[in-house]
Amino acid sequence: MAEKVALIGSGNWGSAVAKIIGGNVQNFPHFDKEVKMWVFEEQVNGQNLTEIINAKHENVKYLPGIKLPENVVACPDLIKTCEDATMLVFVVPHQFVASVCRQLKGKIPADCKAISLIKGVDVNEHGFRLISDMIQDALGIRSCVLSGANIAIEVAEERFCETTIGYRSRPDGELFKQIFNTPNFRVNIVEDVIGVELCGALKNIIAIGGGLVDGLKDETFFESCGVADLITTCAGGRNRKVAEAHVITGKSFDQLEKEMLNGQKLQGTSTAKDMYNILSKKGLCHEFPLMTAIYRICHEDLPAIKIVEDI
Ligand code: NAD
Ligand code: 13P
Repeated sequence: MAEKVALIGSGNWGSAVAKIIGGNVQNFPHFDKEVKMWVFEEQVNGQNLTEIINAKHENVKYLPGIKLPENVVACPDLIKTCEDATMLVFVVPHQFVASVCRQLKGKIPADCKAISLIKGVDVNEHGFRLISDMIQDALGIRSCVLSGANIAIEVAEERFCETTIGYRSRPDGELFKQIFNTPNFRVNIVEDVIGVELCGALKNIIAIGGGLVDGLKDETFFESCGVADLITTCAGGRNRKVAEAHVITGKSFDQLEKEMLNGQKLQGTSTAKDMYNILSKKGLCHEFPLMTAIYRICHEDLPAIKIVEDI
């Protein structure tokens, strides 16, 4: 039996992946060629968005300027979109997943598989849950996740980028890879749903922080001496090289400096010590947990894993 893909969501990212999936299902004999895409119906210039999408093959509101394949069919009815699907692609903002699942409960084929492209978590009085777990619990089907460094318009314009699928069952991961992977959108699959999903959800909070800090930043941080040097040194400098070797070999920083640098001098280890001395004198270590943890790893034999645990 052919696999049939349905997309639940048609925003900026949903429309970008609709373009990819619509193209890919045509390349394999085991996929049904029609891909239904659920659109939360709304009026755009007095017309239903679904009708505009199906006439123009473009989501003029959420992904203007990008043509969608004609086999992607916009549908305003959630149940009709999904009732004959075997592969569900969830790509609505996370705040709408609960209501979508409530509507779909009992209305989808039992052998369906899902994938969540949603970046977020579900929080209630009992704690928090992954969105993919929410889908699994609500619908009784297995769910993979897809998350990556992907900006919808860049993907839609076929600019090169990579993404990650986290799977619970490898055949599911491989099947979903077939509908997403293209020469410009390279999919890797890993057996780690929790890791993939949490990275995607939590980075959004840091992105807010990044924007806040950029807004506050002194212009100097945009000069070469600022963020550019920070990225460069973390990617290719001697401090990072020796620190990585410390984790891999278990040798001290002093010993590695001698072995690896042929007389060149590390600056980070002694600066970490100087800064730590000032911070501890002023009682400010708790306000600088990253610098404090790095000092202790360099000079007090604190295990490197503490850089994660202490922050
Ligand atoms: P979006 O923010 O562009 O659009 C919002 C969507 O929500 C629209 O399709 C709208 O019709 C729909 N909507 C509004 N009210 C609704 C309701 N009551 N019920 C259901 N749907 C409703 O959406 P997006 O960018 O496709 O985001 C979906 C997910 O994809 C998010 O979790 C996001 O983090 C993730 N994501 C986005 C990008 C990106 O570049 N946009 C990249 C990777 C991941
Ligand atoms: P924004 O939702 O902040 O646009 O981020 C898109 C994304 O998830 C990039 O990986």
